[in-house]
Amino acid sequence: MSTPHTARDLDTSRPHSARMYDYYLGGKDHFEVDKEAAETVAAAYPGIFVCARENRAFMHRATRVLAQEHGIRQWLDIGTGIPTEPNLHQVAQAVVPEAKVVYADNDPLVLKYAERLMRSTPQGRTTYIEADVNQPEGLLDAPELAEVLDLSQPVALSLNALMHFVTDAQDPYGIVDRLLSALPSGSALALSHCTPDFDPSTWEKVTEIYTNAGTPVQFRSQQDVGRFFAGLRLLEPGITVGHRWRPDAPDGTAAATEQPTDAQVSLWTGVGIKP
Ligand code: SAH
Repeated sequence: MSTPHTARDLDTSRPHSARMYDYYLGGKDHFEVDKEAAETVAAAYPGIFVCARENRAFMHRATRVLAQEHGIRQWLDIGTGIPTEPNLHQVAQAVVPEAKVVYADNDPLVLKYAERLMRSTPQGRTTYIEADVNQPEGLLDAPELAEVLDLSQPVALSLNALMHFVTDAQDPYGIVDRLLSALPSGSALALSHCTPDFDPSTWEKVTEIYTNAGTPVQFRSQQDVGRFFAGLRLLEPGITVGHRWRPDAPDGTAAATEQPTDAQVSLWTGVGIKP
């Protein structure tokens, strides 16, 4: 928590993925430079706003389903992002007040707002760790994590809109495997991931915009997203486009006026349970 920060979190001269995502969600924690970059993405891919909203809605439904139907009481949410109400712990604690949530992100900007993630119920507990998913051992060994999570009991690993920031050269499957190895049977993986499957040329442009802004990305096919769930028992309805994953579960977000298209959403989502 006390890592000294450089000018990076004050750098408003360059767009920033977490602040761009805040703009897509209609938040207020971004600067002009982020808005401009986000609008460039939106010009190439107008579905981005729908994608961001459906991504959030999936996180809500997956969290509720895990709490209500699979007895999950603890979450490890990596790539948390700038806090957006309701945050994961608020969704989980609305179902189980004693739910415990560890949040992690590698962006100093998220740390700046992290106190908003600490407003736990008195029965539950939350904490925030500044950590990089590319160093899973460092994250798992963080003393703050051990203070909040009991790794002898099931934990849901929540990786929402994170793994497309980890390119194949960085061993994304090995990373998820190492994280899951630390969790006992009955634990879960809830994951969402942007995909070029429905509109390859648009996603080529999006890839270029992020890469040129200094953020390498790798959007993946359904099959490649499926590889993250190797060895897990996939919950119904399997790996589906975000808005089609358990649409019956309440998500507490404002209902969309029209049903989005798969190309607008362009997110593969899934939840698996460790046997
Ligand atoms: N999970 C949230 C936010 C997604 S935005 C949601 O789905 O609503 C992606 C987040 O991942 C950003 O906050 C970004 O800072 C974070 N991130 C990107 N690369 C990361 C890394 N290597 N380690 C940890 N966090 C990372």
